[in-house]
Amino acid sequence: MKVLKFGGTSVGSPERIKHVASLIMPGERNVVVLSAMSGTTNSLVEISEYLYKGNIPGAQETINALEAKYVAVISELFATDGGRLKASEALEHIFALLRSYLSEPLTEAGEKEILAQGELMSTALMQRYLEEKGVRSALLPALDYMRTLESGEPDMQHIGTRLRRMIDLAPKADIFLTQGYICRNSTGGIDNLKRGGSDYTASIIGAVLEAEEIQIWTDIDGMHNNDPRFVEGTRPVGELHFEEAAELAYFGAKILHPSCVLPAKLHNIPVRLLNTLQPEAAGTVIYNFPPDGKLKAIAAKDNITAVKIKSGRMLLAYGFLHKVFETFEYHRTSIDMMATSEVGVSVSVDDDSRLAAIVDDLKHFGTVTVERDMVIICVVGDLEWQNCSFQAKVISALDGIPLRMISYGGSNYNISVLVRSADKLRALKALSAALF
Ligand code: ADP
Ligand code: ASP
Ligand code: MG
Repeated sequence: MKVLKFGGTSVGSPERIKHVASLIMPGERNVVVLSAMSGTTNSLVEISEYLYKGNIPGAQETINALEAKYVAVISELFATDGGRLKASEALEHIFALLRSYLSEPLTEAGEKEILAQGELMSTALMQRYLEEKGVRSALLPALDYMRTLESGEPDMQHIGTRLRRMIDLAPKADIFLTQGYICRNSTGGIDNLKRGGSDYTASIIGAVLEAEEIQIWTDIDGMHNNDPRFVEGTRPVGELHFEEAAELAYFGAKILHPSCVLPAKLHNIPVRLLNTLQPEAAGTVIYNFPPDGKLKAIAAKDNITAVKIKSGRMLLAYGFLHKVFETFEYHRTSIDMMATSEVGVSVSVDDDSRLAAIVDDLKHFGTVTVERDMVIICVVGDLEWQNCSFQAKVISALDGIPLRMISYGGSNYNISVLVRSADKLRALKALSAALF
């Protein structure tokens, strides 16, 4: 059994939905995870924002526009009136639910329910399309098995038990369809695995079912060696180690959700990144293999803030770093990069929502400086420290670009530098030119 996940653009139009249906191989009893059609989750976010602001006409207009889009999709997708009718009925329920929020103040739980509708719509459409095509599919509702613990981590045991039971209850199905992204939290409320989280759904399912492979189908032929949105001439990387893929996903390679690698890695299940628009392309396979001494790819993580704490008096004393880290921990803010010297420490964070309180607390231990609008540029590969010169090539490629921080040796897989946002493009291009 394989797990196949199709992202938003892969199911973004009637034509694409038909194409995905043709890629799903009946007979293998694979699990197919679908995202919302591209643009839908953004519209649902927008609806919630209008509702929070009490702008009912704004919410209404966005719901109407979304509904018009789906009405058009249904009329093009289905060949028969029967198919159209069934799909329209399913979606009518969803739009009625969205409209029910127009008359009450929005709560966080309500927002989560609104955000869940995109995946419920795409799977409803696909299920009915497959039915019209005579394919025997079974829908596995994610809200009936996907659950997180109080810690926010997936409840793997519960998910595995429920999912296996649901699969056993559908012996005639050739294909299992399910929603990415959506889940229930530890109190049973509707929740989600954060934006882009359908990749994570696929990986969790692959892990609990001990699948043969997890396939992430998207709009590009695998992990490229640099961000194709900013650099021309990037090329797909054939193979990535789990650790390399995890670093790239964490440091901004949007093709993979950062949490997606871990469940697959722990269960040693290969993850294949494939292109729906070019199914014959080899893509990227992520698995465990011996060190190969190669540089693989460059990624960038935006909206980073650097925080420097300088203390002539305390740094040499025991416990200075402990106090600094404890402050970040207390404010539940994780640190991405760090650099230390005898008189101070610099760290970078991507979540600055609690920064004012953090800075306030850190002022007990030293002089604090904050620099915003920074970017982490991360070069990933098999960078075992005895393999000389990788770091020299990286640093010399960045000659002329001010580097706020450098991090090397934290793992065998990355060298990261912190630069100003204004220098991001220049840095990415210079690295591609020098390294590939
Ligand atoms: P999906 O909707 O299928 O989940 P995403 O938009 O989340 O797709 O991810 C695919 C996109 O990731 C690509 O279109 C590409 O622009 C972007 N991307 C960023 N970095 C990389 C990279 N290193 N390799 C491939 N794609 C990347
Ligand atoms: N639909 C969700 C999003 O747009 C989840 C996903 O596509 O992975 O973030
Ligand atoms: Mg994605």
